[in-house]
Amino acid sequence: MRSKGAIMSKRFCALVLLIVAAVLIVSEADGARKLRVIATIPDLKALTEAVGGDLVEVDSLSRGTVNAHEIEIRPSMMLKLRRADIVVENGLELDKWIDVAVQGSNNDNIVRGGAGVIDVSRGIPVLEVPTVRIDRSMGDVHPLGNPHYSLDPGVAPIITQNILEGLSRAAPEHRTTFERNRQAFLAQLDSRMGEWTKLMEPVKGSKVVVYHPQWIYFLTRFGLIETGWVEERPGIPPAPGHLVRLVRVMKDEKIKVLIYAPWNDEKLAERIAEEAGAKPLLLAAMVGGVKGADSYLAAVDYNVRTLSQALRQ
Ligand SMILES: [Zn+2]
Repeated sequence: MRSKGAIMSKRFCALVLLIVAAVLIVSEADGARKLRVIATIPDLKALTEAVGGDLVEVDSLSRGTVNAHEIEIRPSMMLKLRRADIVVENGLELDKWIDVAVQGSNNDNIVRGGAGVIDVSRGIPVLEVPTVRIDRSMGDVHPLGNPHYSLDPGVAPIITQNILEGLSRAAPEHRTTFERNRQAFLAQLDSRMGEWTKLMEPVKGSKVVVYHPQWIYFLTRFGLIETGWVEERPGIPPAPGHLVRLVRVMKDEKIKVLIYAPWNDEKLAERIAEEAGAKPLLLAAMVGGVKGADSYLAAVDYNVRTLSQALRQ
């Protein structure tokens, strides 16, 4: 009896172990189905989630309230990158800082030129490409042209196409799902685009001044004109003489708004606007940049409504 009982319990133990192993394998397979993606900026996190849906787990290395030109590399970024299957980057040197973090991550998937890197600037009609070689020692942060194209909802089809190709490279079996997700997102975008164009129609041709030259794609899309910048050159603090000239231009041209981002010097924006008789206008320069702008469509919607309202006053 005793020996029979021992055999039974051995069998029982073996069965339990088998079940546990099966559960582990299933959950591991379940986890493995999600691609681990790291985006450099929140706009690209949002657009990757739109294409990847449930099949991806996306994290952003920066937040919507900080200047993407000036991200400080932290050890936690390297840890995130170590586990990544894919990196989604803006390119045009906006997020070149990621190279240092990737080096520290020891992850061959995501080294520059590797299959796990999606540079979404591919195919973007880049604006403000310098005609002369930019001297980096002067600190200009747009040496390859203006990198702030993600603010223009009109280029989201190109960005999401690049994301689709990159995700499908990593998980070809899910291409159909990625395509379906992208189409659903573009359909939503398309209907919002109709609303936004209508809202901007009455203020078409208006001139605005910006703090950092990051609104050109957005403004051009809706037929607005960028007349001046607080920063004399991208990323370089203005000299007093430049600000005197700027205020004069703003008065002459009867500029109504000065657009700035959450990380710009708010006091300076307010002072210039006041002197020129204009209104300082904080916009969501990135998803999450202002309250309520917590998705890609919500951020564009906030910018369109806020700007069109300010220009109509
Ligand atoms: Zn910039």
